[in-house]
Amino acid sequence: MKKAIQVVLSVCLLAAAGYFVHQYLNAPVPGDEGKDALWLCTSAGCEREFRTPPAAMVANLKTNPDGAMPCPACGKSLTIRAAECTACMRAVRTIGHGQLPDACPHCKASMHGISVPTPG
Ligand SMILES: [Zn+2]
Ligand SMILES: [Zn+2]
Repeated sequence: MKKAIQVVLSVCLLAAAGYFVHQYLNAPVPGDEGKDALWLCTSAGCEREFRTPPAAMVANLKTNPDGAMPCPACGKSLTIRAAECTACMRAVRTIGHGQLPDACPHCKASMHGISVPTPG
């Protein structure tokens, strides 16, 4: 009898976990609601910058668990989320642990005060 209760409980927990994962995958990335995400392809020789609407990212998460968007230019999933320079609007690659360089590598504008995109 005790065993049966344990089985019922674990099934309930699994169902709840599945529900939360489903909710998570369908929820917009916090802070990114309604905003296109900026991506940078890290493939050598490609380095394409591209933007994806939140809906495309959610759809992509279902087929790509790591969340990387395939590059529209080379088709590889060697892409990372990049911050956008508020001065020149180009993609700025993060360095190290989600840190931004002091200045934009494209236009040399100060990068202070620009938020780092959340991974995925
Ligand atoms: Zn590419
Ligand atoms: Zn810039």
